[in-house]
Amino acid sequence: MTSAANRGVLPLADSVSNWAMAGVDLLFPPTCVGCGVAGHRICPHCAQLVTPAPATICRRCGRVREDVVDRCVACTDPVAFPLRRVRAAALHLSPLREWIHLLKYEGRRDLAPLLARYLVATFDQPEWVEIAPLVDAVAPVPLHVERLHERGYNQAELLAAGLCRQRHLLLRTDLLRREKLTRSQVGLNAAERKANVESAFCAAPACRGLRLLLIDDVYTTGATLCSCAVAALEAGAVEVYALTLALPARADDPDRADLEHDASPTPISSRTIGATS
Ligand SMILES: [Zn+2]
Ligand SMILES: [Zn+2]
Repeated sequence: MTSAANRGVLPLADSVSNWAMAGVDLLFPPTCVGCGVAGHRICPHCAQLVTPAPATICRRCGRVREDVVDRCVACTDPVAFPLRRVRAAALHLSPLREWIHLLKYEGRRDLAPLLARYLVATFDQPEWVEIAPLVDAVAPVPLHVERLHERGYNQAELLAAGLCRQRHLLLRTDLLRREKLTRSQVGLNAAERKANVESAFCAAPACRGLRLLLIDDVYTTGATLCSCAVAALEAGAVEVYALTLALPARADDPDRADLEHDASPTPISSRTIGATS
């Protein structure tokens, strides 16, 4: 499948919701979720407070390292780490941490198009220039259907839709399915997280021959992304890449417990969030 044939697709529902949002903004002007200033959901000042992922990362798995390395201990084994490349846009620090929490647990799906801009900025980096034209489809990490019904939406899908709209990529929500309702990853170590999501996903035969870009909100141990990639590759995908909004600043990030895609909500102090209307 050629990438050119897949581009230019803009889901009707997405454009309708954008118009609806514009109408709501006219009636009820938004306030910034960071500082409360009127007129923006995320104002330009607060948007700049997001800490970008540092340059010193592993070029393959995107984890923060002391120096730039082509591979690291976490991704050397292609079986254990089947993704071709993972990048996160920013560090999982305030204020992005609180915004992701609002998106996932407080129903603030209206933040997704704004947060997707960080994915776009990362995808526009020179290192993606050669890969971008090869990407056949963008696949958000799916939620289990029960979790989807609870939450009402998949935050990764909303983020992926924002990226696809802005970069004319093809959004495919039919390629991956979460079969197992995994327990929350909270409190699990890396090995336990891996076991928890192992075989949690299944991929459609339509993956065959595709180069896929996975999208998720937060990249913790990579267990979820790897599990998705294994399913896609077993279904015949050629290569799998991934982009996420955030990754922990350190391996022992105390906020890791709240990171995983499918986790249950962990309350965050409202004082760090500011106005949310
Ligand atoms: Zn602000
Ligand atoms: Zn690595």
